[in-house]
Amino acid sequence: MVIRYIKYLANLRSIDNNNPQKFICFIVFMSANILRQHFPFFFGPNSQSSVYLDSAATSQKLQSVIAVTQQYYQERAVNVHRSSHQLAASVTEQFEQCRKTIQHFIGAKSHKEIVWTKGATESINLVASGLAKNHFKAGDSILVSALEHHANIVPWQHVAKDLGLQLRVMPVDAMGVLQLEESLQMINSTTALVAVAHVSNALGNINPIAEILSKAKQMGALTLIDGTQAVSHLNVNVQQLDCDFYVFSGHKMFGPTGIGVLYGKYQLLEQLPPYQLGGEMIEKVSFAETTFQAPPLKFEAGTPNIAGVLGIGVASEFIQNNKNTMMQIEETLYQHLLSVLSGIPQVKLWGDKVNSICVQSFTIPGVSHYDLAVLLDKRNIAVRVGHHCAMPLMHELGLDGTVRVSLATYNTKSEINTLGAALIECISLLTEPVTQVETNHSVDKVEQTKLLPIAQSIQQAKTWDQTYRQLMLAGKELARLAEQYKTEVTAVHGCESQVWVHCLLENDRLVLQGDSPSKIVRGLLAVIFEALSGKTSHQVLVFNLAEYLESLHLGRHLSQSRGNGLSAVVDKIMAYCQHPSATQES
Ligand code: PLP
Repeated sequence: MVIRYIKYLANLRSIDNNNPQKFICFIVFMSANILRQHFPFFFGPNSQSSVYLDSAATSQKLQSVIAVTQQYYQERAVNVHRSSHQLAASVTEQFEQCRKTIQHFIGAKSHKEIVWTKGATESINLVASGLAKNHFKAGDSILVSALEHHANIVPWQHVAKDLGLQLRVMPVDAMGVLQLEESLQMINSTTALVAVAHVSNALGNINPIAEILSKAKQMGALTLIDGTQAVSHLNVNVQQLDCDFYVFSGHKMFGPTGIGVLYGKYQLLEQLPPYQLGGEMIEKVSFAETTFQAPPLKFEAGTPNIAGVLGIGVASEFIQNNKNTMMQIEETLYQHLLSVLSGIPQVKLWGDKVNSICVQSFTIPGVSHYDLAVLLDKRNIAVRVGHHCAMPLMHELGLDGTVRVSLATYNTKSEINTLGAALIECISLLTEPVTQVETNHSVDKVEQTKLLPIAQSIQQAKTWDQTYRQLMLAGKELARLAEQYKTEVTAVHGCESQVWVHCLLENDRLVLQGDSPSKIVRGLLAVIFEALSGKTSHQVLVFNLAEYLESLHLGRHLSQSRGNGLSAVVDKIMAYCQHPSATQES
């Protein structure tokens, strides 16, 4: 990388100074490479093989973030706010300086408005549980958008249920873009709180929060903005936005996991009750009474994530110092991504393509997102598929999931091209008819004779490609489950793809049927059904899935989450065998 960078520098003279557009493109491209240098992931053991397009799940980490956290653990591991020795005082100062750095990063009025949490989820829960105790009253409603991450739905849903309030949902259009007019009309005198994402994690849309905040303020509602996907891509100024609360996580902005921020207007933080109780957040304790510190310490019970705070501080400084360059790079990358994806006829893009960060969700009609993810993963391309913790949004769009490509400033056009080429290849693999596979027959004869036909074909497959084709063949042979049986009762939760399993005991022998939009999952179902069909309840209950998959050499092809999905299938079958009448209709 460094050598390539030097070569670009050497070529600088060849840039056409009379063509400013070309020059700007060149500078942006150069900067892209310069910024990539700051992320050791791209120079470590995974650098050659992996194309990382999953930054919305978590971003790669800055060298400076790693350095400051390592330095803390290695050289400066002391507690903050308690001991008075020199090192403790110095680390406490560094720790509190980070609060000021974050204050400036998001344009807060005071560093006392910055509360450390373990992430956006905890920040939202802190506000929700506090407001539940002393803010909401009968007849109030809470307004969220259909685009929200579960972290900005479930806490409010819980509060609404507990207090008998209404949880209302601002709608999206058929592409998943917030319908602003309708949303604004929903903010009325009963609205006690509007909680909305600055940027949708599932689709990348930048929501029109300025308009929403202005209407909410007009109607006297409190506002919470979930900025988790925004802070590393957009300029954020909470005073200009005039929101009441703003939350985000360190790990989505090149920082550590386990650290997050709650920004709150100071007088609101003063009114909120403490979230957790214990050391550090108290002023005076006696058995008769305890008094609390002022914000932000009131909300920071116990020893904080000190290394995390130092890390998020450094990460926010990097973003602040490079924001303009980053935004230019990301725009260039996003436009390139759009053109590559639009060039593949089967791809259907979702969300707002104009007001968007460099995140794009898509589907391919007739192709399971899960199957695509498995094939892309085998080509070392990391994307995320599924509901992206936004199940209600997927439901609104009539989808069971999407493929999400999420870029960051360190990605390159060449990685996007690699994705494009791989997608074309995978789509053709998943849509072409599957044919019998030539396998290697050198498998131990004794072992072979013990195995059933599908299991045998899987075991004989030597490469992933052969395994995959055998699974596709087995899946093709699996009878479809009648639509009437695809119900909540037969649905298996915990899989990356939709799966249904219908169980029946006939004369104490198990009859299994199942289905999934994923061809690979259908193949895996066929493997399990072959092993368990016709067995007695007792035989099913002693079945060891992990051992069985290992004996077929399948374990190494299944990621932890795919393995969990299969466990969920087997658990469902076992639950049925234990209580046939309670768990499924016959
Ligand atoms: N909000 C949004 C928009 C997110 O994307 C996420 C994580 O993906 C969260 C909240 C929750 O963040 P965390 O898991 O870091 O608490």
